[in-house]
Amino acid sequence: MPIHLKNSGQLREYRANLGVKRLGFVPTMGNLHVGHLALVEEVAKYCDEVLVSIFINPTQFSPEEDYDTYPRTLEKDIKLLSTTSCNAVFTPSTDEVYCENTTKVANPLVQYPDIEAYAKILCGVTRPHFFYGIVNVVCRLFTMVQPNVACFGEKDYQQLRIISAISHKRFPSIQILPLKTQRNAQQLALSSRNNYFSNTQLETAALLSKHMQATVHQLNSHTSISDIKRHWSAILQEATDQLQHYFEIDYFEVRHSHDLQLIASAKECHPDETTDVPNARLFAAVYLSGVRLIDNWALWQDA
Ligand code: AMP
Repeated sequence: MPIHLKNSGQLREYRANLGVKRLGFVPTMGNLHVGHLALVEEVAKYCDEVLVSIFINPTQFSPEEDYDTYPRTLEKDIKLLSTTSCNAVFTPSTDEVYCENTTKVANPLVQYPDIEAYAKILCGVTRPHFFYGIVNVVCRLFTMVQPNVACFGEKDYQQLRIISAISHKRFPSIQILPLKTQRNAQQLALSSRNNYFSNTQLETAALLSKHMQATVHQLNSHTSISDIKRHWSAILQEATDQLQHYFEIDYFEVRHSHDLQLIASAKECHPDETTDVPNARLFAAVYLSGVRLIDNWALWQDA
């Protein structure tokens, strides 16, 4: 069983006892699934010990979102973690993470306008509070845990980019490790919020990844730039039309993988002639029965 650290005093003692051992960190909001466990195993490859935090962060929810009803399954989560390389579970209280009133937390990105720009696009348009809450909690947890490496999922790709950027400035000694999106047999990205769905809804939810994969496959199959240019808009439009049968679409767009800028033309999206590193991703956010689903697929790589 991992050690359960219930407050920052216990965390400090655990951290001090580690000495020069390298600590890997996986921040979560609990209700763990196989995707979270994969993050634990990934970070374990680079560290001597792994600490998982379980903290449902109030500042990343707006008042009308599901903070109060977000599934709280601590006992089950700790049991699951006992089957992994996790050594310690940290479950701080809200008061320990936020000394101030959580509705009055300062904007942590105010000094970083270049990073703040990443927080205002994609999910940041419909959830303007969201990345401020994420950056707030991750910076506070980094300060408390002082990890050597922290692992985040590519499923939340925009979050990963923002955390990498802020961490590079504020915590340059912490290595940020990405992990590929973990999916079920139908290719639906695993998510704690999938628990809100019935079996039939889960089948519908899987159509998001199915259509995204098909779109990526179609874009990938056009190898010359002129060919892609000709088909680009039609492919994206057709996928949007298909998705609209099942979902309310928030966004469905192709952006650069690194700076998240919208791809203005198909030419920009094509991989660099000199390298096979993909430079673009298809991003989507949709609602199914009021539940938000997000996903992203790299072009020239996943399909
Ligand atoms: P959450 O508990 O939803 O806040 O997520 C905690 C961490 O797990 C974040 O780094 C997420 O990106 C990551 N994560 C959640 N779902 C997946 C998934 N399906 N594949 C990979 N990482 C994931």
